[in-house]
Amino acid sequence: MKIHCSDKQAYSCTSCGKCCSIWDVPITSAERDRLLKLKLPSIDFSKKDYFTKYKKVNLYKLNQDENQRCLFLDNDNLCLIHKHYGEPIKPLACRLHPYEIFTWSDNEVSASFKFDCPEVAKSSGRSIKSHQKDIAQLAKELNKTAKKATAIYAKNIPSTINELRRISETYDNIFTNNNLSANVKILAASRLLEYYSHPNFSNQVKKLHISFEENSMTIVNSSKKELENMIKNAESMNVNHRVSLRYILSGYARVDEESGAGRFSIERMKRVVTITKFILGQGALSSFCERLSGSTAIDPVQCLRSVQCDDEILQPYWNYLSSKLRSMHFFGYPAFDLSFEEGLRHLIMTYPIIRLLSAQFAVSDNRKNVSESDIINSLEVIDHTFSKSIIFNLNHVKNIIKKMMKADNLASILHDFR
Ligand code: SF4
Repeated sequence: MKIHCSDKQAYSCTSCGKCCSIWDVPITSAERDRLLKLKLPSIDFSKKDYFTKYKKVNLYKLNQDENQRCLFLDNDNLCLIHKHYGEPIKPLACRLHPYEIFTWSDNEVSASFKFDCPEVAKSSGRSIKSHQKDIAQLAKELNKTAKKATAIYAKNIPSTINELRRISETYDNIFTNNNLSANVKILAASRLLEYYSHPNFSNQVKKLHISFEENSMTIVNSSKKELENMIKNAESMNVNHRVSLRYILSGYARVDEESGAGRFSIERMKRVVTITKFILGQGALSSFCERLSGSTAIDPVQCLRSVQCDDEILQPYWNYLSSKLRSMHFFGYPAFDLSFEEGLRHLIMTYPIIRLLSAQFAVSDNRKNVSESDIINSLEVIDHTFSKSIIFNLNHVKNIIKKMMKADNLASILHDFR
């Protein structure tokens, strides 16, 4: 089985217990029945509710204790089911973490690791290539119920999955081009994307052939000086850029359990007020996202100006982009059926977001330099919801992102990154 993935991804579980806390774990009724038959120390199914039925779907979730830990998680952070009966007995949702796996309409499989696992964010452990057997087995199980992933390049531009793979790999090659600075890579990728999204040129995408990569790389390499000057001579961010950046940040870093709840509640209203204040420049990031509790500085946009971020420490971020681009887990069915163009715009916008978050982590820690750990921590925060939150598919958000991708706007944002 051919599995499309980035060989820069790696992970080995250290049993930190994070994935068995915080989030809901959905299981089927057959899995629930199977678990109910197990004899496990300290588990008494007659005394406690270990499962809660979802209201609208025929699924259950595994209940958690008051610290949001799965009730099957032992004190040593190991799963009791896994410990006593082996991994195959665990529900599929548990075995899937931290994999993201899709079978596409051409029957080829793509896989990536989720960056909300700290070991994935660090690329620490066994390469994804050595997990192929597990990926193939999980893909087989998923195929029984999951629909096949498919996608288009843009509205009215149908493309084969194979063509999309080639375009995707070209963007990865731009981001891994060491002759370009980080800011230039981002501006170059956005210029290329916007060039092909122009009605006069979008037809060229339909005629994609083997020279797409060659042409794109030639354009990018020959525009290097021009792009550098564009960033150097750009105006500093204006108030609109700052508000838009904070708005996107509040969406990318949101907690999707809450956003997906779809219920009206006082808590939800309070959250809207907090986010609105944040967008207008008041309140710390930690006030609306618990996972950012380490960040105490007031305005992440201001933090940018007081810290230095050297290109060398950005490697985990390029690995992140590579994992999305090689697997294509940023558009189509894997990402709310966004078109390739829409998905790639979101992906490119993660760059300023990572820079904002990491600057805030550094400032909160009274440091003048962003460290590689700040980048890794920021990746953990955004990948929790990237491609999972409804915000990515809202028209007004897509429009804001499109506006920010315009050369002048993006150059102004990049101009402020030191
Ligand atoms: S979050 Fe990652 S390292 Fe921690 S228990 Fe889960 S898979 Fe293992």
